[in-house]
Amino acid sequence: MKEYTYQWDNQLEEPILKISKSSMGSYNWCPTKYQFQYIEGRPIDQTEVMRKGTIIHNSREDWFNTVDVKKAESMDEEELKVYFMSLYPIDDYTDVYSVMASSEARRFIEIRNEDALDTFVPVANEVKLDAELFIPQNLNPKVPLQRDYTVHLQGIIDRMFIENNQYIPMELKTGVWKDWRTTSMRKEMAFYKLLFDNCPDEDLIAHGLDPNIDITHWGWYYPISNYTYVEEVKKSSTNAVMKGITKLIHSYEKFNDGGEIFEDKFYAKTCINCDFYGICPAAQNDGWV
Ligand code: SF4
Repeated sequence: MKEYTYQWDNQLEEPILKISKSSMGSYNWCPTKYQFQYIEGRPIDQTEVMRKGTIIHNSREDWFNTVDVKKAESMDEEELKVYFMSLYPIDDYTDVYSVMASSEARRFIEIRNEDALDTFVPVANEVKLDAELFIPQNLNPKVPLQRDYTVHLQGIIDRMFIENNQYIPMELKTGVWKDWRTTSMRKEMAFYKLLFDNCPDEDLIAHGLDPNIDITHWGWYYPISNYTYVEEVKKSSTNAVMKGITKLIHSYEKFNDGGEIFEDKFYAKTCINCDFYGICPAAQNDGWV
């Protein structure tokens, strides 16, 4: 694969533009924020929410690496809950682990009833993939590009399950579920599908994934709201991510050509919490109107 970077010069063939789910999310939130964070490499503060997310993600990753399906095979639901809970650490998030242990106990019993316990643990657990994605010049008629590009995608898929010989990536979220999150969750999962579909076969195989098996569904899990959702993949979400990438490339084209800064999406109510509020031109101008 080619070298890749966030400090990208679109006039060069290499290094190519690096895109992660987080960088894309930052750009979609506010292109100026993206510029501060990813092009200028300015740090952001670790918040309590971020720390909580990291700890719970690590605990769940370890849980799937540790759980012994053979040992659990003959347990009833109460025994499963106790066993599953015992595999989580004792820290500030035992209430979240308790929800996860109970929901895994129910899922275990459902899968056992279907005689499919070999699918209880995912085929991939926190797997990091890299891929190159071709973006044609006229992919997005609203944002014609100067030329065709190839970009580098990088991401970590929380869990990849298999069911009926089809893959289902599942994303863990440690916030509260709200229905309005559906569109952004679909885009996040579409990013993973693009990542998987464009990852070289040998890399997928090295991570224990079969390139001949398709991702046909995707889903997300919000344990704090005890909410799990799975649906068929949506081509419209994949198209939306591809079009979003053309906007990001277009911002770099303008930035590299004429020094035009990435546009802001200033909104006083939320901008006040931005790490870059103190240096953001839009935020500073707001005080004068
Ligand atoms: S303060 Fe608002 S407009 Fe400025 S970078 Fe942050 S999110 Fe963007």
